[in-house]
Amino acid sequence: MICPKCNEGVVTKVIMKAVDEIAYVCEYCDTIWFENDKITTSTGRPLELYIEEGGQRQEVRRA
Ligand SMILES: [Zn+2]
Repeated sequence: MICPKCNEGVVTKVIMKAVDEIAYVCEYCDTIWFENDKITTSTGRPLELYIEEGGQRQEVRRA
């Protein structure tokens, strides 16, 4: 699907390797949604912000 935030990037299913959770990331604006999130403009958060809050860089790979 196309990212609702930027209307440019494709939202790709990925696995957060460090925590083994499924997430969805926009390749264009780096917004991340977790598996249980509804993918809308009012949900999702910047991938960089998540990495900082997590205290360590999360390795993300494509599912
Ligand atoms: Zn986007």
